[in-house]
This record gives sequence, C-alpha cells and structure tokens, in this order.
Amino acid sequence: MFEELNVLNGEKLPPPASRSAVEALPNEKIVEEGRRLQCPVCLKDHVKDETPKRMPCKHLFHNECIMPWLAKTNSCPLCRYELPTDDEDYEAWKKEKKRAKEREADIENLHNSMFS
Ligand SMILES: [Zn+2]
Ligand SMILES: [Zn+2]
Repeated sequence: MFEELNVLNGEKLPPPASRSAVEALPNEKIVEEGRRLQCPVCLKDHVKDETPKRMPCKHLFHNECIMPWLAKTNSCPLCRYELPTDDEDYEAWKKEKKRAKEREADIENLHNSMFS
C-alpha cells in the first residue's frame, strides 16, 4: 500500500527547473506594506523593501524559500505552474502528453460534429 515518495498522482515528480529559467525569474521589490502578501512556503509576510521572486504564475516567494524548492522540482509549490527544465526526457514526455490531449480533443470534436 505504500506508494513511492516521488510519485504524485501516479506521475513522477517533475525534475528541477532549469537554471536559466530560475535565473530569469524577476525579483519584485515590495514597496507597500499592509497588503499582507504572504510567502506560501514559510507563511511569513513579505515586508517592505524585500525583493521576493515572482513566478510566471504571479506567486511571490522569498529567494531562500523558492530556490531550494526549484532545485528539486520545477513547479510552483502553490499552483503547480511548471517552469521549463533541463531534462530532455521530461520535456519530451510533457510534449507527448500535450499531443495526446490534443488528439483526444480532436477525436471529441470529430465525434461531436458527427453526432450533433
Ligand atoms: Zn518564505
Ligand atoms: Zn503559482
């Protein structure tokens, strides 16, 4: 009954985010306090003059919180938005998965056009 730790929903935990993608993440300077922007990793508020990283999904994290995370896996801890990785196998698998989904949608469209 014990599942492997690195298996999530039957899928392998994605590989680390690519270095260049992590380095490209912008730092956002907190200029106003009081909006209670919380870092989802450590649950501390971002305070004025801090420069947390902004993920493409718009979530803000302390550098020291998100960097070790992205060194392990490529997705946002909050919403699982995925950054690119350096792992060719994984990227190929991801593309294949996307294609499979598109094929499914095509078949469904075809089905709908035939039976509607
Ligand atoms: Zn934090
Ligand atoms: Zn996110």
